Amino acid sequence: MIIAIDGPSGAGKSTVSKLVATELGFCCLDTGAMFRSVAWLALEQGISLEDGERLGQLAASSPISFVHEAHDPSPKQVFISGVDVTGEIRTARIDKSVSKVSCHPQVRSALLDQQRRIAQAGDYVIEGRDIGTVVFPDAQVKVFLTASNQERARRRVEQNRARGIGSVDFEEVLADIIKRDEADSKRDAAPLRPAEDAFMLDSSHMTTEEVVSTICDLARSKG
Ligand code: C5P
Repeated sequence: MIIAIDGPSGAGKSTVSKLVATELGFCCLDTGAMFRSVAWLALEQGISLEDGERLGQLAASSPISFVHEAHDPSPKQVFISGVDVTGEIRTARIDKSVSKVSCHPQVRSALLDQQRRIAQAGDYVIEGRDIGTVVFPDAQVKVFLTASNQERARRRVEQNRARGIGSVDFEEVLADIIKRDEADSKRDAAPLRPAEDAFMLDSSHMTTEEVVSTICDLARSKG
């Protein structure tokens, strides 16, 4: 079974995906980490973020892998072309660059192949922006997870503080997520939008447990 969880930045997709996967015995795939890894490599190699052709070639020739610990559905480490980028991809530098990389159709098509290949391996909770619309349009469960801008910024600051990576300045984080959502929603290639058959879940006034049990119930109702 594929459970697609799409939505804007900071809506809680990662936290919720991990808990849903733990409860149902699924694996997690964080497709945002894949776009972040390509953005990191492009910056390292000095490739222009405007050059869709070269970025697409880079994405197609740079395998991304996730290292899991036993019994943990979320990966402990992320590698691109053999380099551990687990921490690097969460920095403010990547927050600000990733949408400039993810808007190119050539990059999306290279990563789409990798995403489908990874998820062939079994039952997955997959989080992203276009999972229910483009990557897995036949996913049995599709959720579009949102929350207010203020709440999403608050959660992202908390997450960055806990990880010890990224900005913990509320106004900076708020401005960044608004800018990134706008770029992600307005791009031509696979924009951020709910699938027609997605279950809309506004988590602004819900606890994490409520969100997780709503999604698990949905999955169980689909068998
Ligand atoms: O989810 P996360 O904030 O890590 O995603 C980082 C960026 O990767 C998004 O802002 C978006 O530009 C891109 N992305 C995407 N499609 C996905 C997942 C992420 O375009 N399926």
